[in-house]
Amino acid sequence: MFAIDDTIVALATAPGRAGLGIVRLSGPGALRIASTLLGRRTSLLPRRATFARVTSPRGPDDQGEVVDQVVATYFPSPKSYTGQDVIELGLHGNPVILTRVIDAATRHGARLAEPGEFTLRAYLHGKVDLVQAEAVHDLVEAVTPRQARAAFDQLDGTVTTAIRDIESRMFDLVVSLEASLDFPEEAYHFVDPDQLDAALRDVADALGRLVTSGRQGRVIREGRRVAIVGRPNVGKSSLFNNLHGSDRAIVTNTPGTTRDLLTETCDVEGVPITFVDTAGIRHSDDEVEREGVARARGAAGAAEAVVVVFDRSVPLEPDDRRVLDETTELPRLLVANKSDLPAAWVPRSATAAAEWVTVSATTGEGVAALRRGLVEMLGVRDSARDEVMVTNVRHLRLLEAASESIARARGGVAAGASEEFVLADVHGAMATLQEVTGRRASDAVLAEIFSKFCIGK
Ligand code: GDP
Repeated sequence: MFAIDDTIVALATAPGRAGLGIVRLSGPGALRIASTLLGRRTSLLPRRATFARVTSPRGPDDQGEVVDQVVATYFPSPKSYTGQDVIELGLHGNPVILTRVIDAATRHGARLAEPGEFTLRAYLHGKVDLVQAEAVHDLVEAVTPRQARAAFDQLDGTVTTAIRDIESRMFDLVVSLEASLDFPEEAYHFVDPDQLDAALRDVADALGRLVTSGRQGRVIREGRRVAIVGRPNVGKSSLFNNLHGSDRAIVTNTPGTTRDLLTETCDVEGVPITFVDTAGIRHSDDEVEREGVARARGAAGAAEAVVVVFDRSVPLEPDDRRVLDETTELPRLLVANKSDLPAAWVPRSATAAAEWVTVSATTGEGVAALRRGLVEMLGVRDSARDEVMVTNVRHLRLLEAASESIARARGGVAAGASEEFVLADVHGAMATLQEVTGRRASDAVLAEIFSKFCIGK
């Protein structure tokens, strides 16, 4: 169980110096604690911003020293972010000031909030479901506009609504199956097997659409590692530089896992792609070079897709063929580079699955098409913009499990199994959906989810 009856306090904005810093309080003592810090003469009206001075009194009779000017906003329960009394104190964004105000709040009974505790309270009070709570985290952490949009849509309730719709269809099925069970002598009395199968197929289709959206949603949320490979001098580094020079580079907190390799994360059509510039895969007898080649192979192995670069201005070499043979395992894009020079050969699809893109890393010609080809290869379609999109792997796994239960139920109907078996599978699918929205979620799952949040969220 989680403690939700006490009052928590935290800095809601990033620590450090800024124009403003916001301290947030939530809980039954929020108004009392805020009133103590703002002085008795300040009265806070619901949902009105109040300009005041904030002090740091040591005890009940202490006036305290003035710390800063503040704009305080009071959101009385239940119409607040957490569903409890919430006070937001807008202060100057200075760590010294913010720490003093938080210390003063804790001296008067508030407890420092744990990571994600405000949003956890919002979820526990039914202000948001679990999908929306998780979307708050994703919205804060988003590094591309497309990620932010996907997270915002989920916070707005698109996935929640889609799941509720499926749940209510399942509920109708359960009701008629149960009614049928009550009259066992008249098998499928209340449900015609054809209708039952049609209803199950509708549910399966709706779940299938969410699962499909989740496969590309994950790519948008998690990003992908793409290795740039090819024999030396084909223009890998030039292409790498062109790609991250023209794309907005993304600063991530995740340290590179492959040392001695150049990596750069870019926003490619809304997908965060980490490009890995490899040292050049080439057959080699030289000890030192072999080391570099091994590293490059390792990088290509750790990548989820590869861009294989060739030099179109000179005839293909055996090493080109070797690189081609070594990268068949991964999704790949074949690039004919140096299109600004006369062509020595014409790119032709080597395998049905791979496509050629002709570019010039020097002039940038074709690089836009390369970027589009890249996200397409990773399974992200442009049309997905207005569709309901699942991005979270936890949701995706559960939706896949629910799909399997419904597939079993359909198999049961087809095989003429009794309603009891069909019912058990539909019940199973419903329970799984309830884990997505958090109507049914263990404390361990909740603790795991909210521990990933920052403090103050
Ligand atoms: P890497 O060894 O595969 O990383 O290749 P580099 O990026 O170092 O490029 C090798 C040489 O080819 C350099 O002299 C580049 O300037 C040149 N180069 C790379 N891309 C192009 C291109 O698109 N057009 C032309 N004309 N030269 C290029």
